[in-house]
Amino acid sequence: MKKKSLVLLLSLAMVFAFVLSACGGGGESGEDTSGGGDEAAALKVVTEATFAPFEYTEDGNDEIIGFDVDMMNAIAEDQGLTIEWVNMEFDSLIPALESNQGDIICAGMNKLAGDRAEKADFGETYFKSNLMLLVAADSDITGLDAVTSDMKLASQIGTTGGDMVQEMANEGKIAEGVVLNQWTDCYLQLKNGEVQGVIVDKPVGANYLMEHSDIAKFVGEGFGETEEFAFAVKKGNTELLDKLNAGLANIKENGTYDELLEKYKMKSE
Ligand code: GLN
Repeated sequence: MKKKSLVLLLSLAMVFAFVLSACGGGGESGEDTSGGGDEAAALKVVTEATFAPFEYTEDGNDEIIGFDVDMMNAIAEDQGLTIEWVNMEFDSLIPALESNQGDIICAGMNKLAGDRAEKADFGETYFKSNLMLLVAADSDITGLDAVTSDMKLASQIGTTGGDMVQEMANEGKIAEGVVLNQWTDCYLQLKNGEVQGVIVDKPVGANYLMEHSDIAKFVGEGFGETEEFAFAVKKGNTELLDKLNAGLANIKENGTYDELLEKYKMKSE
């Protein structure tokens, strides 16, 4: 009898041991024993990099640099976020959020313009600016109200300046509103005399004039509504937006934001 009980006991012990090993041992419940979870994927910051000094490239390489880049990198570090920058046309930025091709827009984008705030969630304002008219250095044009209906004005497609030149053309105030993909193309058309003016954000035009005051100048005063540049996330992504806003507040508090304004020789309106 004793022998039978012993054999039965040993058998039960073996069955129990087998069941235990088949359930992954005695590790912590939920512990990932597959080895190496996924690294958190970098958040894609989408921008249009001909908007110096906010975002631009130089010397023919692809690295995007500028105020927005330094600011967003500081915010990401403050909030423990990993980011990577993706360059695309300005009017592709909001669609990139909507289609999950991008996670954050940081592109000198005016959060007050048009229906943008219906399509994306914007953060706190990080810079205020007006639009200005840039003309050839030898132009007789004295300001936006001196532009005549035979003239062409250029600006970037999808931007507040781009919308303005198209509106002026539709109203017959100018012969054509030339909207181009890159700011550098707008400057080139002005330099070549193909357009008589460029409507551009004041700090961006001022940056261009730092090295091109021999061929171009600002005329008149700033116009249009005072723009409020803000980063944006996909509609509803409040968790990420809260982090970005907290990071912005922190870099303003610790002086990093002011150092960046100084570095890029800019002053918010
Ligand atoms: N501030 C302008 C806008 O929001 C232009 C932005 C840009 O060209 N990056 O439309």
